[in-house]
Amino acid sequence: MSLTLSVDGERWRTHLRGTAERFPGLVPVAKGNGYGFTLGRLARRTQWLHDQELAPTTADALAVGTYTELPEVAQRYAGSLLVLTPWRPFGPALDATADAHLARRLVHTVSRPEDLTDLLERRPEARFVLERATSMQRHGLTARQLWAVAESLRGGGAHLEGVALHLPLGQGTHVTEVDRLLNDVVGAGLPEGPGARTVWVSHLSAAELDTLRHRWPDFTFRPRIGTSLWLGDRDALRVHATVLDVHAVERGDAFGYRGRTAPKSGHLLVVSGGTAHGIGLEAPTGDLGLRGRAGTLARGGLDALGFVRSPFSIDGKQRLFAEPPHMQASMLFLPGGSRVPRVGEEIDVRVRFTITTFDRVLVD
Ligand SMILES: *Cc1c(COP(=O)(O)O)cnc(C)c1O
Repeated sequence: MSLTLSVDGERWRTHLRGTAERFPGLVPVAKGNGYGFTLGRLARRTQWLHDQELAPTTADALAVGTYTELPEVAQRYAGSLLVLTPWRPFGPALDATADAHLARRLVHTVSRPEDLTDLLERRPEARFVLERATSMQRHGLTARQLWAVAESLRGGGAHLEGVALHLPLGQGTHVTEVDRLLNDVVGAGLPEGPGARTVWVSHLSAAELDTLRHRWPDFTFRPRIGTSLWLGDRDALRVHATVLDVHAVERGDAFGYRGRTAPKSGHLLVVSGGTAHGIGLEAPTGDLGLRGRAGTLARGGLDALGFVRSPFSIDGKQRLFAEPPHMQASMLFLPGGSRVPRVGEEIDVRVRFTITTFDRVLVD
């Protein structure tokens, strides 16, 4: 009765290793729903990647999104834990800061000058990266603030682990922007040490990183990667639901929570997977462009009657919801003339992995 992610383990691990080889110093990112795999599984997999001994620093740190995610990964992975959400003097960041067990492994992200002062007052030995604002405009220090912070750190003693740059998703090249930001970093005069020459970056391609490594040979780049690491080889992943029930209907028969009536004869299918799994009303578009839509209309216009495309497909054909998805199951309408799957049959589902909660993840 479940929504299942089946992973071709060998293929997936080959992709993970390959990605780690292409991105020396890789920092895997495990956050949110764990990209569909769960945080715990990604933490164990990051430990495995580290144990492959690909490059000295590869996977020696794991990045989580928030402080509340730390308990999910801390026991399953032994290295450093970078928190991507900037430290603030409130909420779960404070609990984590106070946790002496975790303190040595934690790397905080600091994005405001006052937060650095506050953090170091609470925990002078805290490890941290300084986030420099980018064109993303999410969090980060301005060039001027970075200078001021660098000056305040020159007294020594602070555990600076580098500068963090969160870049927008690749549109064209980031090299010019990173060049400009690294000039700021050099100009700021951070206290000497590896931290002054380490840059934790997001969303740079392998080619961009190569270019940057040539241009900035003194710097160490730490690529933080989630999506293209865990989800980069889609052919290693298969998502399926199970047909739980099948009902023949005639035109005009009522069904569902809303007493809707069947527009023509066919079958109602009850399949596993609903809102609790993140199954949404509208299937992610992709292969259905304008022409595809026009084709759907021409083929009988069920969607013109308010039937919405579902992410479930049978025999390679995407099927319509008979009504909006329920909590853990969905009702599909299968028009007469189509092959009717049997109860227990598995059907394919197209999902966005970052919003989907699977009942089972099977890695073979
Ligand atoms: C989520 C996140 C990443 C990883 O992003 P992907 O697109 O999944 O690779 C990297 N850096 C930061 C700051 C993030 O929040």
